[in-house]
Amino acid sequence: MPMSQAFKDRLYPVLPGIAEHYGTPFHIYDEIGIRETARRLNETFSGLEGFREYYAVKALPNPRILGIMAQMGFGFDCSSIAELVLGRRAGAKGEDLMFTSNNTSRAEFRAAAADGGSILNLDDISLVPKVPEMPELICFRYNPGPQRSGNSIIGNPVEAKYGVAHHQIIEAYVQARRRGAKRFGIHTMLASNELDYRYMVQTAEMLLDLIRWIRKEIGIVFEFINIGGGLGIPYRPDDSPFDLRAMGDEIRQLMQVFRGQEGYCPKLYMESGRYMTGPHGVLVVRAINRKDIYRTHIGVDACMSALMRPAIYGAYHHIEVLGKDPGLGLETVDVVGSLCENNDKFAIQRPLPPIEDGDILCIHDTGAHGHAMGFNYNGKLRPKELLLRRDGRVELIRRAETLDDYFATLQFDRDIIDPNP
Ligand SMILES: *Cc1c(COP(=O)(O)O)cnc(C)c1O
Repeated sequence: MPMSQAFKDRLYPVLPGIAEHYGTPFHIYDEIGIRETARRLNETFSGLEGFREYYAVKALPNPRILGIMAQMGFGFDCSSIAELVLGRRAGAKGEDLMFTSNNTSRAEFRAAAADGGSILNLDDISLVPKVPEMPELICFRYNPGPQRSGNSIIGNPVEAKYGVAHHQIIEAYVQARRRGAKRFGIHTMLASNELDYRYMVQTAEMLLDLIRWIRKEIGIVFEFINIGGGLGIPYRPDDSPFDLRAMGDEIRQLMQVFRGQEGYCPKLYMESGRYMTGPHGVLVVRAINRKDIYRTHIGVDACMSALMRPAIYGAYHHIEVLGKDPGLGLETVDVVGSLCENNDKFAIQRPLPPIEDGDILCIHDTGAHGHAMGFNYNGKLRPKELLLRRDGRVELIRRAETLDDYFATLQFDRDIIDPNP
């Protein structure tokens, strides 16, 4: 079921007042829920020494949220310079940061090594000689190719742009070692929004088999395996939740067997984004127009600049209308934004209680890859972000964009060259 009952109980009674004070639209995140999920993840792997989650910053890159993650003991998975800066500002340094870039630029290598460095997670063998200074600890992102099938968001590994191919992985470590690397990790990221926990167990097993083989071939002992993110959340009311406990039990068993056979055990790292914050955010919008043509369109005061997933992936986000009981009759509507793109719809042919102008709609599960993905096409601005704190108070953690923000990159002083001298 999307959005927990506990979050609803905390939010819905006070939502009209919050909407009145701050104005819609906004994303609002639930600190208690985020902390509970973080605690449950840590508990799941409490038997594994050195387990660590590196929260995927791109899912919800807000310093206030990252501060909570740091308090829970998490590191940060970053894949851009801005994300490294955000992670460092949240107090992370050195091996608290994993830099998982792809198509990496020189500037990105420099940023990854600056200010105390980070764990460099290289995406290709061709990058080994391009690392300005090989760090002591190096990791590669592995792409298993045809041995594994991917899932719909991340795609088939053979077609994916990510990672070192199977036939290059040994040579990648040999070259990194030759350049001075002394400590080693391995990483992969094969799924996105996967609800079947067994996929993650298979990924752990695949990496354990791989490091067993690499050790046999070139004698490298691995400090960690990083099984990536991709744990799914139930966006649809009839989706069943990801079985975290079963995943934990089965991975722990695999690692015990590995220790028995190999005489050592790597640390387990993960880098979930969606699972940690996704269900703990909602986009709150107000209905402003109702249009009855061939279909009924409910126009709301946000558009895909606030939430891209339905438009990009056809993703389902559950919607509730505040204070309206769905038991009292439904009508089928499209819930739409104002962007000049026909895919700017939060819901298509969705049965909802009859909606009037001024009604508040809660679009569920926007706590990951929600605000962060928004764009400014068509001059549409991104909304504010609020935090429902554990003390029950509400805090503005990002203001809405303004027209000045939108115009900030335009060049009003002329900067001209003549390329034909
Ligand atoms: C996006 C991403 C993640 C997080 O994915 P979720 O589906 O949010 O768990 C983790 N690692 C890498 C490298 C990513 O690109």
